[in-house]
This record gives sequence, structure tokens and C-alpha cells, in this order.
Amino acid sequence: MAYATTNPYTGEVVKEFDTATEEQIEQAITTAHEAFLKWKETTFEERAEILAAAASILRSKKRQYAEILTMEMGKVIGEAELEVELCAQMLDYYVKFGAEHLTPRYIRARGFNDTDVKLVPEPLGVLYAVEPWNFPFYQVIRISAPQLTAGNTIVLKHASNVPQSALAMVDLLHEAGAPEGLLVNVFASHDASEQILGDDRVRGVALTGSEKAGAAIAQIAAKNLKKSTLELGGADAFVVLADAEVEKAAKWAAFGRHWNAGQVCVSSKRIIVEDSVYDRFLEVYREEVKKLKMGDPMDSTTTLAPLSSQAALEVLQEQLRLAEAEGISMEEIELDMPATGAFHRPVILTDIPDDSKTSQIEFFGPVSSIYRARDEADAIRLANNTPFGLGGSVFSTDIDKAQRLARQIDTGMVFINQPTGAKADIPFGGVKRSGYGHELTDLGIKEFVNEKVIVVTDIDGDF
Ligand code: NAP
Repeated sequence: MAYATTNPYTGEVVKEFDTATEEQIEQAITTAHEAFLKWKETTFEERAEILAAAASILRSKKRQYAEILTMEMGKVIGEAELEVELCAQMLDYYVKFGAEHLTPRYIRARGFNDTDVKLVPEPLGVLYAVEPWNFPFYQVIRISAPQLTAGNTIVLKHASNVPQSALAMVDLLHEAGAPEGLLVNVFASHDASEQILGDDRVRGVALTGSEKAGAAIAQIAAKNLKKSTLELGGADAFVVLADAEVEKAAKWAAFGRHWNAGQVCVSSKRIIVEDSVYDRFLEVYREEVKKLKMGDPMDSTTTLAPLSSQAALEVLQEQLRLAEAEGISMEEIELDMPATGAFHRPVILTDIPDDSKTSQIEFFGPVSSIYRARDEADAIRLANNTPFGLGGSVFSTDIDKAQRLARQIDTGMVFINQPTGAKADIPFGGVKRSGYGHELTDLGIKEFVNEKVIVVTDIDGDF
């Protein structure tokens, strides 16, 4: 059975689910479409009421929701609780600012036509959301909160290892008073994307996941003339300049690389440190990593979780074999490791040649790649030596300089003096092989609305 909850800590197969049939998928689209026809007629206040109720339910049952995350993909319970709170914040954001983002705008046609133009954001219809397992609730709410606010409805295909998280999000909306069909889950096979995107009632697709999945979905969307947004992988540069507060930067880097067991698209995966502070940085970084504690993710003292599955662990091991074959220096940090679970000890890679395959891949686990940069220009060159362009960081006490360097990194987001994060009120999106389009804030909501152009001519205007 393709969809199953397998606890990554114990290895126990907790629950299995059948893959959806063609008929079930047809029914799911029908349900979402019928819901859309009514939902698009609702007022912003009616939509906001449901979103606000969902936020409040999440907060009131934070632990209960968090336990689903920890059981299904192994993240430590404290991080799971933070994810639940982040979901509530994203819902709050659209309750507070959704109406403003959807208010029609007036512009004046200037230069050739002296005319009023009204831009009215209208929902498109049913959207297909394909989501990954690393933030099982956040990913669903990141697309649902803006798009339900806009008046769209969603058919969700979640990752096959987090089926109960998918169901929990559907139930959350029901409990919050949402009508049937706003968010419809399907345990769809990969092939079912042809059926879903081939259906005229489905008007677009948002995918978060790997490049391979993104390319497959974008191709099907293009063939059917549907809009797509892709939030794909990343190998974010974490640049530490000579004038940075080195100890603080090293602590942030160790955190930024190891939260969610290193399985974050915007983890600080490639740490680039200017020569004069490199040795000190590495010393503090290593000490910080040594403080991590592997263990039962339900235990609140655990700080390094198992990977999400045995399969994920095998991919990481294979990547490390590649690094070894390329002669890259590898230091495994000798933490105590539980006997069971998909754990991997932290590994620090150094002396990574620019032209190595290792320098070009995304490690989705606790593997840090640390580069020595000759100077600022070299740091930027190294930061851009990647096929990805999702996030990035620049650490410096000179904020103007940090901003100038941020502009030179070919990436979607740069955070100054902190690791790239996922925040409810900051847009999210990448370039290059990290995808295209945005989620969150007004940028996210506008991805799937028709900004209808209404040109207004006076009744007594010239013929
Ligand atoms: P993945 O294999 O691409 O899975 C993501 C989703 O795509 C899952 O629902 C998966 O379903 C589905 N999928 C995969 N191949 C498909 C296909 N050919 N047709 C239809 N659906 C398909 O991703 P992953 O490797 O598990 O997740 C980690 C990746 O996601 C990393 O690269 C990470 O950086 C990226 N990510 C990016 C962001 C972002 O916002 N940019 C956020 C989180 C993660 P199944 O589970 O059924 O295979």
C-alpha cells in the first residue's frame, strides 16, 4: 500500500491507506468544484471566520496536533508544536490582511488612453496542491490559508508517508465550520496527476517538493495550459563575513542546519566563511553540533530527530559515499545514537572542490558543507556556485554591506544575520532550480487569482 504512516523512530507501520481510484478522484474534484461555486460567492468575513476558528483549534490542541507530526515524520515534539503555532499564525495573517490583499485596485491608463482601469482579484476555481512530508501541516496551510481566502478550493495530494497529517488538516477545517469540499484530500498515485490536471475544473497547481516531482507536474500543467507554482529544493548559502559576530553566526548556523534533522528546503546547507574567521567559526560550530542530543523525538530534551524514513536515510548515505569517493574531508560528530530509528550522526564536510558533484547537490539531513572564502568576492562566487536559488544568509556587522552582498546572490530570499526561515508574514519563493512563484503574503494569494481588468468608460465618452 503506497500511503502509510511508519513511525521513523520505532519503525512501526502504524496505519495504511488505499490509493485513490479514478472514480474517487473524479468525486474529489466534483466535491471541490461544487464547493467552489458556493465559496466564491461568500464574503471575506465569512471566509475569515472559518480561518480564525481553525487557528484557534490548532492552538487549543497544539500538543495533539504536534504528536501526529512527530509520529508520522519524526520531528522533535517541540519543533512540531512550533509548526502548529506557525500554521495558526499563517491563518491569522490572512484573517487580518486578506481583505486588503483582495481589495480591487484602480489604476489610470496613462499615455494613450485617459481611462480608469479597475483590477478585481477573482478566484480561479479548484487548485491542485502537491505537498511534501517535511512540514506536513505548514505546507498544507501555506497554500490553503491564502487560496481559501481568495475564494478558491483545493484538492490535496500529500506525501505518501504523512497520510494522517493530510486527514488532520481536512478535519481541522471541518471542525472550524468549513463547508464540505474546501480542502479535499486524495491519496493519489503519481499517475493521477494526469487525470487531475486534465480536468477543466482544475485551474492550477502548486507543488512543493523535489526537482523531479516539480518537472513532472509542471510538464503536465503546461500540456493542459494550467498555471503552476513550484517550491523546490535548496542548498542555501550561509555567508559569514570577516566582520561578523563569529560566535553568534556559528550558533545560528548549527541551529539553521540541524532543525527538522536538516530536512528543510531552506536549511543553512552551504556555510561559506571568510578566511580570517574560518578557523574560529569551525571551532565554535563543531562545539555547537556536539551539544545536539539524538533520541526519542517525543522526548522534549531531544534536539536531533531521526530522518523521516529509512529511504531518506539511504539517500543521505548514498550522497555521503559520493562525497567520500570525491575525496572530500568528512568529520562525523560522535553523538550517542539510539539503536532504533532512521538516525544519522551529524557530518561536517570541508575542502569541497568547486567542481565536485558534492558541491552541487542538496543534502537533506544533518550534513554541513563548510567552505573557506578568500574574501567577500570569493564568498559571493561560492554562494552562486549551485544550481539552486531558494534562500540564503549574510552575516556581517555592516548592514549596508550585507545588503549589497545579498543583492549579488542569485536566490529568492536572503536573511541578514539570521538563517533563512519560514515566517507567516514573509513571502516565500525561489529561482533557478528551486522553482518559481511565491507562497504567503499578497504575493502568494495573487498567484491563483485572476486580476480581472475592468475598463470604465463614461456613458457620454467620445465614439
Ligand atoms: P518529493 O519526492 O518530490 O515529494 C513531494 C511531493 O510530490 C509528494 O507529495 C510526492 O508524492 C509528490 N510527487 C513526487 N513525484 C511525483 C510525480 N512524479 N507526480 C506527482 N507527484 C509526485 O519530495 P521529497 O524529496 O520527499 O521532499 C523533499 C524535497 O522538497 C526537497 O528537495 C526539499 O528541499 C523540497 N522542499 C521545498 C520546499 C520549498 O518551499 N521550496 C519546502 C519543503 C521541501 P509521494 O510521497 O507519493 O511520492
